[in-house]
Amino acid sequence: MLTRRELLATSAAALAAPTLAQRAPKLPLAVASGNGLRCVQKAIERMQAGADPLDAAIDGVAILEDDPTDMTVGLGGVPNEEGVVQLDASVMHGPSGRAGAVASLEGIRNPSRVAKLVMETTDHVLLVGPGALRFARMHGFTPQELLTEKARKVWLYWKQNLSARDKWLEPEPSQLDPDVRDFIREYGADPFRDPRSYGTVHLSAAGRNGELAGCTSTSGLFFKMPGRVGDSPIIGAGLYTDNGVGSAGATGRGEACILFCAAHTAVELMRQGKHPKDACLEVLRRIASGTRDGRLLDRKGRPSFGVTIYAIDRRGEYGSASLWAVSGWGKPRQFAVADSGSARLEDCAYLFEGNPEL
Ligand code: ASP
Repeated sequence: MLTRRELLATSAAALAAPTLAQRAPKLPLAVASGNGLRCVQKAIERMQAGADPLDAAIDGVAILEDDPTDMTVGLGGVPNEEGVVQLDASVMHGPSGRAGAVASLEGIRNPSRVAKLVMETTDHVLLVGPGALRFARMHGFTPQELLTEKARKVWLYWKQNLSARDKWLEPEPSQLDPDVRDFIREYGADPFRDPRSYGTVHLSAAGRNGELAGCTSTSGLFFKMPGRVGDSPIIGAGLYTDNGVGSAGATGRGEACILFCAAHTAVELMRQGKHPKDACLEVLRRIASGTRDGRLLDRKGRPSFGVTIYAIDRRGEYGSASLWAVSGWGKPRQFAVADSGSARLEDCAYLFEGNPEL
């Protein structure tokens, strides 16, 4: 029981201390990878209507998971080397401190919704492969073919171009299927020469009272080895949320994000007082200085791959940074932001100009 005096003191302190919403008038806030403009818009609408930030984040990400024309996430994702689409996703909910994830999930277009069920209905954090699929079916998800016609043609073209010494003949450039042409227009020819090309959606959200959540979803590395799991479903690598500090996520070379615990490191750096953008840059500096494998370095000893980190803190500050200013397919690196004012793309900070010099 508080005495009357204590009660008055507490109420006076409460009146004097600005609420989180007053200190961070930009809330609610959503930040996502560059492919996530529609996702952040959706997440903000949901949070403005009172939704929990995790539900808002998942509904935002589901736009790309459901979109067969996005070839890096969910339905329509580029398949593995055997032509099978295998999806990875994770979710983390700040207020409850819980997380869920699935990896190598086949046939279910919304892995992030399955990840949330892992979080809510099991004692586990990560389910993989056939076990994850069985779990999804038990929750009423209906498996479907996730390989679209376009992704199948792109995969076949990759196979035909793998080696000049196998029995697959490369099609004449003039005979290229329009879908393959279209893919090359969007992603460049690199995915066929060097399957380091990737794509993923990450979204971190802060609700009206600063409560945090995050979600990351991907079809992973193009033409990956069957069963290869990237950073996206690994809590601490592709996603980490601490309700008292901030939320962060990563896209790009998953192996680097796993090795350097990218998202968790970003959150820890924010805990030490760094602005989200500076936290993202510091994670990238660690990746750049800690990558020693020659085949992953360019002629100047810099990483020859891409990684982008996204972060928000509980005050509504946000930022994103990329190893390289320009993506593997020649576009400036940008990230998506939405707050009560607008939804927009902003330029990522970066460590290195241009593209790696291979
Ligand atoms: N990080 C994802 C992975 O390694 C791919 C990407 O973000 O582009 O699976």
